[in-house]
Amino acid sequence: SIHQSTFFEAIKQHDPKSIAVVNSDSGKSFTYGSLLHDVALAKERLVQSSGKEGGDLSGERIAFLVENGYDYVVATFLTVTLLSTLAANAIALPLAPSFPAHELRYILDHSEALILLSTPRYATQAKDVLKEGLEKTPKFAQLDKLEEGSQEISDVEITGTAQDVASGMMLYTSGTTARPKGVVLKEATVAAQASSLYKAWEYTPKDRLLHVLPLHHIHGTVNAIFAPLLAGSSIEFMYPFNVDHVWKRLALPFLPEDQLNGHSGQTRPTPITFFTAVPTVWARMVQSFGSQTPEMQAATKTAVSRQYLRLNISGSAALPKPTQDAWIALSGGNTLLERFGMTEVGMAISCGLDDSDRIDGSVGWPLPSVEARLAETNDDTGEVSIIPIGGEKSADGKERHGEIQLRGPTIFSEYWRNPEATAKEFTDDGWFKTGDIAARREVPGSGKGKSGDWATGPAYYIQGRKSADIIKTGGEKVSALEVERELLSLPEVHECAVVGLPSESWGQKVAAVVVLSELGKTAGKGGKQWGAMDLRRALKDRLVAYKIPQDLAVVTELKRNAMGKINKKELVPEVFGDQG
Ligand code: ATP
Ligand code: MG
Repeated sequence: SIHQSTFFEAIKQHDPKSIAVVNSDSGKSFTYGSLLHDVALAKERLVQSSGKEGGDLSGERIAFLVENGYDYVVATFLTVTLLSTLAANAIALPLAPSFPAHELRYILDHSEALILLSTPRYATQAKDVLKEGLEKTPKFAQLDKLEEGSQEISDVEITGTAQDVASGMMLYTSGTTARPKGVVLKEATVAAQASSLYKAWEYTPKDRLLHVLPLHHIHGTVNAIFAPLLAGSSIEFMYPFNVDHVWKRLALPFLPEDQLNGHSGQTRPTPITFFTAVPTVWARMVQSFGSQTPEMQAATKTAVSRQYLRLNISGSAALPKPTQDAWIALSGGNTLLERFGMTEVGMAISCGLDDSDRIDGSVGWPLPSVEARLAETNDDTGEVSIIPIGGEKSADGKERHGEIQLRGPTIFSEYWRNPEATAKEFTDDGWFKTGDIAARREVPGSGKGKSGDWATGPAYYIQGRKSADIIKTGGEKVSALEVERELLSLPEVHECAVVGLPSESWGQKVAAVVVLSELGKTAGKGGKQWGAMDLRRALKDRLVAYKIPQDLAVVTELKRNAMGKINKKELVPEVFGDQG
């Protein structure tokens, strides 16, 4: 069956004439046949440039710097999959052209890459990176002529089955809390992550995905490359994200003939069925919906209804309730499905396809083949206990919160050349400690197995990162995410980040950094902008006193990384000064 075979074996089963990838900006599409052809072609280049006897790449790291789109899929598929059939312990290393040169050099040195593969578009950038400042310079190899890939694949013979499961890839974490760590994922692990998603989200050959994010993260690699390839779906890459282009693309299949300006007579693209993104992308979509023409609004409303867009997924950071609510309203009830994932584990917890299993504020249930548990630490004794299913409340009726711990075939092997970090993040009995705190709640009408038997029982609610989001104040624990959620539900607030600051009397105190909405800029006394007092007053009905931020700073902008995340460690000194 598809679950047992390597990606290669699975992909060879798909109709070679069906579309695998579309580069949205050029409108060019590529079939599964040409993908296999180009992978074989690229393999020759890779082996030739390795300078290794017989092309033996065993034990090597193969980095690549390639444009988002078809070429990236070829490079990913080539390195991750072929390495496991060709070489023992070889590791693919997907990079992003948006990385500054010093960051690329750090990763190339840290990983001791043998080869840096690139395409003509990024050859100059790649060669510049290799020119100086490296301890050991990788060899340069160019993947070219891919886009001319012949549709004739009869002459291409691709053989080999996975010999050594130790081959795979290495992805660097987003660097939200510290310097990015190299996460080693074996090919079998990536395959387990992709099949788990394939089962839960039911990718099919009929699906047309839209992807607008960088591809060197787990989300791009597994959700948008390997899982759809496993299923024979087609993936459309549109990068970088441009909200107007996205609305236009969604609308094209549905615009009346006279509205097509310039597109009339052309074949209309297939409707998008599957769109997975981060909260900042969904927020931009929601904000700009109303500025489209009435005809475009009508077409895009159809495009994002459940009838066509069967899956609209959010993850990487907490989804604000106003974004969810506005999306539900504009799409006619097509609730966003939230999931929780990490570089180290792929997607781990997800809401389900059935409407009853798309729960506001929750990330749902552990995905197929993922084992999850919550480990609660007693602050006084340091003792750790596992919260049993059904034991979500303590004797005094308080909700228990614990660290999410995970086990199973989807979990990474190690942090690259960092055995201390690896050892620290696993329990003695082999569970991975995610560093994220969650609660579990029974939700009426949900978790009845309607989305599959994995989606049963109480659902998970993320409270935030142990290191940055759980604030201990006067003996109480406050989830920064909960306070952020309440702040964001005020129409006067556009964006916010809640942090803990050291406090002599409380241990820590709750503090918030807020970006006001247009309304918030004039909602104060005499048309002035809202200040700390207004914000605190508005929170009084929503939060108990100890959760209301004592320090509140209004700023004009919050810095986020490419995945839409805020680095709170950097934010605190910038806004509140040195906290000693
Ligand atoms: P680093 O490990 O370098 O500090 P990072 O943890 O942000 O960076 P990723 O692996 O890309 O790097 O992100 C995983 C983290 O993203 C999770 O540990 C969690 O904190 C956060 N996250 C993912 N999905 C969600 C979600 N649905 N809600 C809230 N947080 C989420
Ligand atoms: Mg992390």
